[in-house]
Amino acid sequence: MTAILSNLQAVKRAIAAAASAAGRRGDAVRLLAVSKTFPATSVREAYQSGQTAFGENYLQAALDKIDALRDLPLEWHFIGPIQSNKTRPIAENFAWVHGVERLKIAERLSAQRPSQLPPLNLCLQVNVSGEASKSGVAPNDLLPLARAVAGLPHLRLRGLMAIPAPATDEEAQRVPFARMREWLEFLNRQGLQLDTLSMGMSHDFAAAIREGATLVRIGTAIFGARHQGEKK
Ligand SMILES: *Cc1c(COP(=O)(O)O)cnc(C)c1O
Repeated sequence: MTAILSNLQAVKRAIAAAASAAGRRGDAVRLLAVSKTFPATSVREAYQSGQTAFGENYLQAALDKIDALRDLPLEWHFIGPIQSNKTRPIAENFAWVHGVERLKIAERLSAQRPSQLPPLNLCLQVNVSGEASKSGVAPNDLLPLARAVAGLPHLRLRGLMAIPAPATDEEAQRVPFARMREWLEFLNRQGLQLDTLSMGMSHDFAAAIREGATLVRIGTAIFGARHQGEKK
């Protein structure tokens, strides 16, 4: 058995255990395998172990991998920060985008999404940790931004994404994830129809699932440690 296969199996077991501890169905949580910094051969190996959704956050490296793996039916998610001059290749090559925090970026993605493709699925990144994090929408700005993005034609607003500041134990990890769930519920009470909480990484996915994550983004626990000096 290869390392990637056994890691994937262990992660899936841990996801199922966390879901069951929260009284949720295991299939309520999707696994996004974060393949950034790993080569196309590692993605192919994960695919052969049954994984089809992959997350990338360095655009050029991602485009090279997408190109090298055109023979496989993969679903690509862009999870990195988005510069406005890079929106076109993202709109053209990905099925999902997780890190949107400005209307201008969403407008460009919508305008540049090829009309023969399905709408681009999108999550708004929320700043759940205040001072400790520079990225994400401030919670007070979330409702007007979500309403504006939901009205764009070639996008489908699916939900919220967050990368909380690191916390050591599971109780502390759950606090920002619980806030995310409350914000999603708040937006849905305001008439939005959101079904995705993209939260939880290798070190905190169990806590995220306890608080309602529907998609966990996991890299290290599947592919191993990323090398020092490589872009993270
Ligand atoms: C790298 C990355 C991940 C995966 O992190 P791991 O700790 O390796 O599981 C998840 N989400 C985002 C946005 C990332 O940049």
